Amino acid sequence: MAEENYVVVIGLEVHCQLDTASKLFCGCSADFRADAPNTHVCPVCLGLPGALPVLNKKAIEYALKVAKALNCRIPEEGEFCRKNYFYPDLVKAYQITMGDNPLALGGYIEIEDDAGNPKVVNLTRIHVEEDPGRLVHMGNKERGHYTLVDYNRSGIPLIEMVTEPELCSPKEARRLLNKLRATLEYLDVFDPEKEGSIRVDANISIKGHERVEIKNISSYKGVEKALTFEITRQKNLIRRGGTISRETRHFQEGKGTTTSARSKETANDYRYFPEPDLPVIRVANWIDNIALPELPDARRDRFMSQYGIAVNHARTLTGDLHLAEFYELVAPVGAQIAASWIADILIGELNYRDMPLSKITSHAGQFKELIVLVRDQKITDKAGVEVLRVWLDSLGQGEKIESPGAIVERLGLTRESGESFRGIVETILANNPQPVADHKAGKKGALNFIVGQVLKETKGKSDPREIHAMIAEILGE
Ligand SMILES: [Zn+2]
Repeated sequence: MAEENYVVVIGLEVHCQLDTASKLFCGCSADFRADAPNTHVCPVCLGLPGALPVLNKKAIEYALKVAKALNCRIPEEGEFCRKNYFYPDLVKAYQITMGDNPLALGGYIEIEDDAGNPKVVNLTRIHVEEDPGRLVHMGNKERGHYTLVDYNRSGIPLIEMVTEPELCSPKEARRLLNKLRATLEYLDVFDPEKEGSIRVDANISIKGHERVEIKNISSYKGVEKALTFEITRQKNLIRRGGTISRETRHFQEGKGTTTSARSKETANDYRYFPEPDLPVIRVANWIDNIALPELPDARRDRFMSQYGIAVNHARTLTGDLHLAEFYELVAPVGAQIAASWIADILIGELNYRDMPLSKITSHAGQFKELIVLVRDQKITDKAGVEVLRVWLDSLGQGEKIESPGAIVERLGLTRESGESFRGIVETILANNPQPVADHKAGKKGALNFIVGQVLKETKGKSDPREIHAMIAEILGE
């Protein structure tokens, strides 16, 4: 079978923690990450006999916001039920979740496919459920290993979103998750910075073959990596004449590989009973009163019309709420130049340093100062990048933060006009007759070497366009 005949089919189940103040069925604080294990627990989230769950209205409101933003239908009645299974982190031996009557049905998310065209990915459903506790495995295989159980996480509200198997590549899956994350962040119901706030199960198959499920991938990058590995594994197996067995696999984040886990319990292995301690929820009318903020797609379109920036810049800048807000702070000094400096340069420099944008948002004024220096041609683009790097390093190290203007002064990066380096250009031309001859013979790009030498000699204070113009003038062209 030729490579192009393999059709990849991917569906995702995404679990996101809702960023509420308290847990789903009790008053325990949901802000547990910095605290000792088992300090955010009560009889309800520990499942002690006789404890009764009380539904957190805020969690339902947040879930409805998500459902509305993702264009879902809200059925007349939603119903909680008990999903019975035994696992050490599941304190009651059942999880309160939603079965046949979820909160929301249908809906869709718009992404770009691998060719850059708009693509609609349909959702099956969205439901609300409680997070189980967390197991912490101690020790290793050689020495006495044991497992600790922390119930601080038990009862944190989750929404589970299930997509139709309509994704065709790991990159599409990554883009769907990015879009989802951005939407939830714009809705102010989710904090992606919190550890474990998103967990994904991925179903993947090659058309005509069995389906494999990869469980519990806990990062966005991890999903793309796990799917990429799994597609290669399945294709190789098929190519060698093997068969794909229907199974559950685990993703080894460190190695970037998947390994076989115990064979999957089918849906029939879970027994679902109606939850007798919670009433049926009726929210169909509530949805009309839920106001949505401007969402990523709307903001992308507004950025294009209001600031006149290109679609790729608008898409990048609105793909993250904080980035979009930062851009709007900087745009007044020059919408175009701000878009390209943030999307093309700043993001790369931040990623390189593994520095979050939040480190610089309170210093937007200084970033603007840098953009103005470049805009007014006080420094060259090249010097601007150097100033940005020095500035970010000082921010990262928590040193006394030096303003871009002060950095330019200290490093002597002020751009110099052409005339001040005419002598340098003349000397370099005189010392390099061969490139000049090549240029005169019509060889394209022959002068790039000369320009490079001038930039080096003038330490980035000269402008390449200006040098080209001066060379042309000196050569009498
Ligand atoms: Zn509790």
